Amino acid sequence: MSAGQFLNASGYQVTILDKGFRCGGRYATRRVDGFSFDHGTPYFKPSQIPSDLKNILSEPFLKTWSDDLSANDETSVVSIPAMRSFPEALGRGLDIRQGVQVEKLSFRDDVFFAETADTSSKDMPTSDGLSGPFDAVLLTAPGPQTADLIEGLLPIGSDLLKAARKVTYTPQFSVLVGYDFLREAPSIIHNPISKIAKIVNQAKKPDRPEKSAFVVFCSPEWSLENLNKPKDEVAEIILKDLENILSEHGVAVDGLGKPAYLAAHSWRYCRLENPAGLSPEAQIDATSTLAVAGDWIMLPDTHGALCSGINAARQIEIKLSNRS
Ligand SMILES: Cc1cc2nc3c(=O)[nH]c(=O)nc-3n(C[C@H](O)[C@H](O)[C@H](O)COP(=O)(O)OP(=O)(O)OC[C@H]3O[C@@H](n4cnc5c(N)ncnc54)[C@H](O)[C@@H]3O)c2cc1C
Repeated sequence: MSAGQFLNASGYQVTILDKGFRCGGRYATRRVDGFSFDHGTPYFKPSQIPSDLKNILSEPFLKTWSDDLSANDETSVVSIPAMRSFPEALGRGLDIRQGVQVEKLSFRDDVFFAETADTSSKDMPTSDGLSGPFDAVLLTAPGPQTADLIEGLLPIGSDLLKAARKVTYTPQFSVLVGYDFLREAPSIIHNPISKIAKIVNQAKKPDRPEKSAFVVFCSPEWSLENLNKPKDEVAEIILKDLENILSEHGVAVDGLGKPAYLAAHSWRYCRLENPAGLSPEAQIDATSTLAVAGDWIMLPDTHGALCSGINAARQIEIKLSNRS
């Protein structure tokens, strides 16, 4: 989105193809049965917004949230009404096509084409789309998925392919638990047991539904050990832990009964272990206008993702303007 805004402002026509049903990637929110769960990034810091996008901090859809007890200096920010509202706002005015998975890229006569599949229905994706021509392509999927797409284009992008292939991620489970009433509970509990990195009480976030809803972020170690467990089983295990932890924090859990909503989400590409370490100039292929961006380029967080997008867009703009 940051790259799209930059190129759009420079007068280029931008098309974003995203296989997700909703915009936002790992800035994800699941809304179900009156609950709202931010099961990806739960919040971020204002300093993570690069200077090119600082104006966005004064927008009314961002609110400070001072309940992150681990923060010793900077207050956190959340977007309202949901975390995915942030990427949605960044994407305003851009031509974004959700439910479109890029399966293969091709390059001929100096332009790119994308073969796509429709992932918008719950059935198997149908591979029948072709998008293009595009003067430039920016791939922002996680490293391994980007590598798969570049591979089909070789020899174009071979240095980018090497960089994208070498990054690795830790997977992580987020468990979503919703009760049909509101009960007072702490906003955030950090590292209560080794299995759990963080519990975030959704009802305490600004402008969220007033029902008890928790997102339990499992630790990377436990998530890796239990990656092959069925998600229902993961959800049940973590639910028991959650109720014990809430009880230790003085929340009356007797008689809570079954939660109205319980689900585990598995993030295959959650946290980056080793970024590619690409300089802005190295984000674009030496021989073409194929570029890469995402949190795997340099820094594994919101700041890294946004900056890498702007840097890649600058490189694309330089190459395209040199061409004309
Ligand atoms: C549980 C969790 C907690 C986190 N906590 C924090 C935090 O506290 N602070 C922080 O700063 N960061 C946090 N992060 C990390 C942060 O979410 C990421 O760094 C950031 O969202 C990365 O953005 P991105 O655009 O690089 O990648 P993504 O958000 O992963 O976006 C990639 C996009 O590519 C699309 N895509 C992939 N393949 C294809 C294809 N073939 N065709 C079309 N589209 C495709 C996907 O649908 C997706 O929309 C957390 C992440 C998770 C999962």
